[in-house]
Amino acid sequence: MALKGLAGKILRVNLTSGSITKEPTPDDVFAGYIGARGVGAYLLLKELKAHTDPLGPDNKLIFLTGPVEGTLAPGANKITVTFRSPLTGTYSFSLCGGHLAPEVKFAGYDGIIIEGRADRPVYLWIDDDRVSLKDASHLWGKLTHATEDAIRAELKDDAIRVACIGPAGEKLSRFACIQSDYHREFGRGGAGAVMGAKNLKAIAVRGTGSVEVADPEALEALTEKVYGILAANLKARARRYYGTPEMVDGTNGLGYWGTRNFSTGYFEEGHNINAANMKEKIFVGSMSCYACPIACGKVSLIRSGPYAGTMIEGPEFESTGLLGANCGVSDLEALVKVVEICDIYGLDTMSAGAVASLAMECYEKGIITKEDTGGLELNFGNGEALVALMEKIARREGIGDLFAEGAKRAAEKLGVPELAMQVKGQEFATYEPRGCKGMGLGYAISPKGAHHMIAPTMGPETAGDGSKRFEYKGKAALVRETQFLMAVVDSLSLCSSMRFALGLKEQVELYRAVTGLSLDETGALSLGEKITNLERLFNLREGFDRKDDYLPSRMLKEKMPTGPSQGHLVELDPMLDEYYDLMGWDRQGRPTAAKLAELGLAELWQEVK
Ligand code: SF4
Repeated sequence: MALKGLAGKILRVNLTSGSITKEPTPDDVFAGYIGARGVGAYLLLKELKAHTDPLGPDNKLIFLTGPVEGTLAPGANKITVTFRSPLTGTYSFSLCGGHLAPEVKFAGYDGIIIEGRADRPVYLWIDDDRVSLKDASHLWGKLTHATEDAIRAELKDDAIRVACIGPAGEKLSRFACIQSDYHREFGRGGAGAVMGAKNLKAIAVRGTGSVEVADPEALEALTEKVYGILAANLKARARRYYGTPEMVDGTNGLGYWGTRNFSTGYFEEGHNINAANMKEKIFVGSMSCYACPIACGKVSLIRSGPYAGTMIEGPEFESTGLLGANCGVSDLEALVKVVEICDIYGLDTMSAGAVASLAMECYEKGIITKEDTGGLELNFGNGEALVALMEKIARREGIGDLFAEGAKRAAEKLGVPELAMQVKGQEFATYEPRGCKGMGLGYAISPKGAHHMIAPTMGPETAGDGSKRFEYKGKAALVRETQFLMAVVDSLSLCSSMRFALGLKEQVELYRAVTGLSLDETGALSLGEKITNLERLFNLREGFDRKDDYLPSRMLKEKMPTGPSQGHLVELDPMLDEYYDLMGWDRQGRPTAAKLAELGLAELWQEVK
């Protein structure tokens, strides 16, 4: 008997043998790790042998939903894929919104585990309980939007949901993403390359079922309350009106917006790519994920000029930062065009921006020349060259082949590893650590490399007059607590924007209403801690420890040269020591035996290490 909220089955597809099996959802694992992210971390650690080649057939793509997906819970629409990253070699996971997660649930599955490698391109067709692998030779090479169109036409259903890769994933770009619903992505970590290496072009899903919840009245009452809070919440209203670019002015205004390959944290031309300018010049509509009252997705259209007719959902805040400010580009139309290229070829816009900014700094410093770039003048701020570079990266043409390997590998090959702004091989998000110390610690300890949503501390750090962001006191504790909270919200599979209205108390209420299981706030936080430690264990097994919890030397040794954070550095080691102590880890970042016993992970660790 499945837990309430769960569909009760997991689909396992072995592409090498072609076998498709349906397994009962492990209720005890879902009860012990909440769902999606937590369950994915557990399954990856259990099922993947140490040192598995990320691009070999033995790597897995573990797609999982959480217990609340497919119900009317606000923002319950994320689906997580967990895998060993070809970009970092670490444990990684990536979340995608849109409508795929509920569709998987409605088809009768809590998740899909993909393993092996097909001997020719295929796609997976899940039509409720009818599941098959179909030939995708005719789709190989197609752009993501064209792939979705072709699959919908072939299956004669415009309403099915599709997740697919583009040419970047097929060509194994290490930061290739998986695209879904045209505009939503499993972005970070290179899941698209893992899919490409498996010869899996797409997953198409049609589900006609529904999800049973334990206490529908309680769920309805809570949903109504959350809708009311969101309607009144100023931050939620700004996001509804402007999308995530509502954060541009605040981040740039405080001087912690990565600019020109993080050589500084303030972009003088930021007003050209802020939310107000986007709203006035390019926004033409809004899009929403399943069961979301915010609808942060803004549809943008370029009406004239060389990119006339380009239409995307976005650019959202991270793309604006990394492809805009971090490349010194304030040309809004070029920004929209480059986001479109990333979307249709299937590249993570965040890594794409970080890699392009590295290329620009290398060009300005004479490390690469016009000859290397095929004639592109890759100076910071050249939007036209950025568009052309991205086409090359997406197709692995010329210099694009080098940069498709990600910033760390490309910078090492060019002999300038210090110019890659990354942790463990994962390129920075848009927040500048010198101007926001907790974000620096969060990047450093993140299990998947420099990711901003492992411990997004920027809210409390910039509250009031914003000066708290320069303090070190209390940052380790803040990062730790935020990390546990995010492990809960990600495992429930809620959109992180719902935190405007859904605090931990409401999340726990939601979990109880849907599953019928008893859980309180303390219990939820300790599950968050357990998940965090599980992720750490995976990386320790792969050889990652304190030496990998670093920040690039620019953050530690070069004072911020301009803007409101001018003069600041990051003193990482004292924060790291304090963080490890609070976590119950030794000074190399290894959970102690006592901590593992306390969390009930000792036995599992003995079994898998
Ligand atoms: S806030 Fe945006 S990303 Fe989150 S569920 Fe709503 S539309 Fe999707």
